[in-house]
Parts: sequence; C-alpha cells; structure tokens
Amino acid sequence: MSKIIAIDGPSGAGKSSVSRLVGRRLGFLHVDSGALYRIMTWQALARGVDTSDPEAVAAFAPTVEVECRPVDGKVAYFVGGEEPGDRIRTAEINAHASEVATVKAVRDRITATLRGMAALGDLVVEGRDITTAVFPDTPARFYLTASAEARARRRRKEEVEKGIASASEEAVKESLLNRDRIDSTRRYAPLRKADGAMEIDSSDMTLDEVVEAVLAALPEGWREQH
Ligand code: C5P
Repeated sequence: MSKIIAIDGPSGAGKSSVSRLVGRRLGFLHVDSGALYRIMTWQALARGVDTSDPEAVAAFAPTVEVECRPVDGKVAYFVGGEEPGDRIRTAEINAHASEVATVKAVRDRITATLRGMAALGDLVVEGRDITTAVFPDTPARFYLTASAEARARRRRKEEVEKGIASASEEAVKESLLNRDRIDSTRRYAPLRKADGAMEIDSSDMTLDEVVEAVLAALPEGWREQH
C-alpha cells in the first residue's frame, strides 16, 4: 500500500515548497491538489460558466477532463494534452477558485482523482482537506500555518520571481484572507486542523527547518528506506 504524507494549511503557508522538498528527499511524488481546483476554475471561466452559481458549476464539473501522470517527481496535469502552467495562477483565478471549491460535485470529483493517485506510488499531497477528507487515515498528517503577514510576503515574492505579480503586498494579503475565510467556513470539507495532525507554524522558520520538522515526525521506517 502506498505511503501518503498529507499537508494542509491556508494559502501561502509554504505547503508547495515544503511538499516538493520532502517528496524529493524521500522519493515520494508531489501532488498539488490546489492546482486541480484552479484547473476547474480556469476551465469554467474560459467557457463562460458563472462561478458564483453552484448549480451551473456542478453541471459543468463532469465535463472537465484532466490527465494526471508522474513527471520529474510530481504528478503533472494535462488538459487537452497541455500543461496549464501559469495560466492557472492569475489574480482572476485566485479570486474565483475558492468559490468553485465550495461546490460538492467539484470536491467529489477531485477527491476521487486524488485517491486514485495512490496507485502511482508513495505521495506527498498538499491542500486544504487532505488530512480531514481525502486521506484522513494516513498516519503522516500535518497542518502548516504562518501569520497572514508572512504568508502575503512569501506569496508576493513568488509572484515577483515568476514575473506574474499584479498587486501590492497588502492586496495579496486581502486576497489570501478572503480565500481563507471562504475555505474555512464552507459547508463541505472546510479547511481545519485535523485531530491528531501535527501543527507547524512556519512564520519564523526557514524552509529547511520546516522540511526537517516534517521528516522528523514521520512514522518509523518511512525515511530510512530511501
Ligand atoms: O493551494 P491553492 O492556493 O492553489 O488552492 C486554490 C484554492 O483551491 C484554495 O483557495 C481552495 O479554495 C481550493 N482548494 C481546496 N481544497 C484543496 C486544495 C485547494 O478547496 N485540497
């Protein structure tokens, strides 16, 4: 049976960087579940679906086909044979992804896709409901958080480095807090710390320190085999 490391937390807490590095250290595939919600949002907006209408989104969800396959240590996603890349990292998608993610038909479809990935091998899966709903039974569950200021600073720095920054740090913080609010108050699989998950506040930690904290907390035998 595949080993699953599940990492949840709010936007900008460092989940992607930590998951990528932990995956590389252990030879586990990195799975970015947020990208699947972003793809759904991207496709909905491209087809003119009203993302504030849950029924319209639910009707549209089954029509989106995403191919998932391992590429360079991660599970890569293809839509119509192409990787979406930064087309799913725009301010417009930031603004609508949480809305789309409230819809049960969307969550059910993405949850089934994520569970199916266990057949690909050992995984590090990051998201909002991985420890609570997608893989609640895995013994390696983490809740990664940081102050809103630290998260906005990091997210904006990432956007500047990628050349896709479109807003001030203050506006990035507002956008993060808005998504946190929608994600943690929604009816289906809201963002919350799972019982028994290990909480790590990364506000004053380096990336390497967080990676080491995750590795040190893994069940017996998970790090030795690689
Ligand atoms: O992680 P990222 O910021 O790319 O996620 C985009 C959005 O997708 C989140 O704001 C959240 O609404 C949704 N999401 C979710 N459940 C997950 C991962 C992401 O609802 N497991």
